Amino acid sequence: MLIGTSDSHIPTIENYSPDLTAPDTVAKYWLRLISDPLGQAICIPLIVARGAHDGPVLGVTAAVHGNELNGISVIQRLFSDIDTSDLHGTLIGVPVVNVPAYIRKKRRFNDGTDLNHIMPGKENGNISQLYAHRFFHRLVIHFDSLVDLHTASTGRINSYYIRADMSQPSTRDLANVQNADIIVHNPPSDGTLRGAAAEINIPAITIEVGNPNLFQKRVIKSGVEGIHNTLCHLGMIEEEPIENQRDTVLCESSQWIYTHKGGLLSVKTDILDQLSAGESIATLRDIFGETIHEYCTDEAGIVIGRSVNPVTQSGGRIIHLGKISTNHQIIRP
Ligand SMILES: [Zn+2]
Repeated sequence: MLIGTSDSHIPTIENYSPDLTAPDTVAKYWLRLISDPLGQAICIPLIVARGAHDGPVLGVTAAVHGNELNGISVIQRLFSDIDTSDLHGTLIGVPVVNVPAYIRKKRRFNDGTDLNHIMPGKENGNISQLYAHRFFHRLVIHFDSLVDLHTASTGRINSYYIRADMSQPSTRDLANVQNADIIVHNPPSDGTLRGAAAEINIPAITIEVGNPNLFQKRVIKSGVEGIHNTLCHLGMIEEEPIENQRDTVLCESSQWIYTHKGGLLSVKTDILDQLSAGESIATLRDIFGETIHEYCTDEAGIVIGRSVNPVTQSGGRIIHLGKISTNHQIIRP
């Protein structure tokens, strides 16, 4: 339903509908979700490429956390390359899901809630629950598959890695074609967008595309390649997938290792280092420079992410360690 036109002639809609966009067309929309205290609409941006041919609907979402920016650039590049005359199905990009957080350059929604813990929201809920509910029910329910783009949180850096429920074949396939450094088998915990989509049988993966508050060319390119391969895998484009140049490591689980005291932390290991059990990973010093503790791994694994901010309180994150799976079910695209 068309309800208005913004200054830039991008139509504002209340609901996404598959027939909104004509076949063989790329269109941009503002999807109105809520209104602010002045009564002004708060809308999320959508880019829809509807192919000339029938096929599945792939949703690609970014900035569910408002300061995780690389996914925005991935989506923009994806649509700058798309040729709808060769496209089977519909590609829907949401460059920013969490608009109130994006405007404030923050991770969380403007009531302090992590949107990725409350999906699919609540119809008669509080402000973040309502926003999540309308986003999910006005848009996400129309997807046949979902790729949700994130980055590390402030003060940390990540490898280019996927979180996916590898026990579900269609989700596993989506993960395997991304050419990632690491895939972590992770059944979605309640409240994530990925988990809420999976609950209504939409195969969904999370891609961690680099670090927050930045546009990083190398990982943006990886993200675009991964989604290109997803379009090939889903039969939406008849092109060759990009070959995996990395040795993707599959992890059966992962965990953060935390400090037990506050101080100044120097992490010794780097992203993608493979560590054995008992290996030294970090030194904690007090404010006078005296060493308080040397941290070591309990188990062998691969470094998925690490802290880069030395200032740490008790319980601060050190490294995100993946337990490498012996069951290498990585399918090369
Ligand atoms: Zn995130």
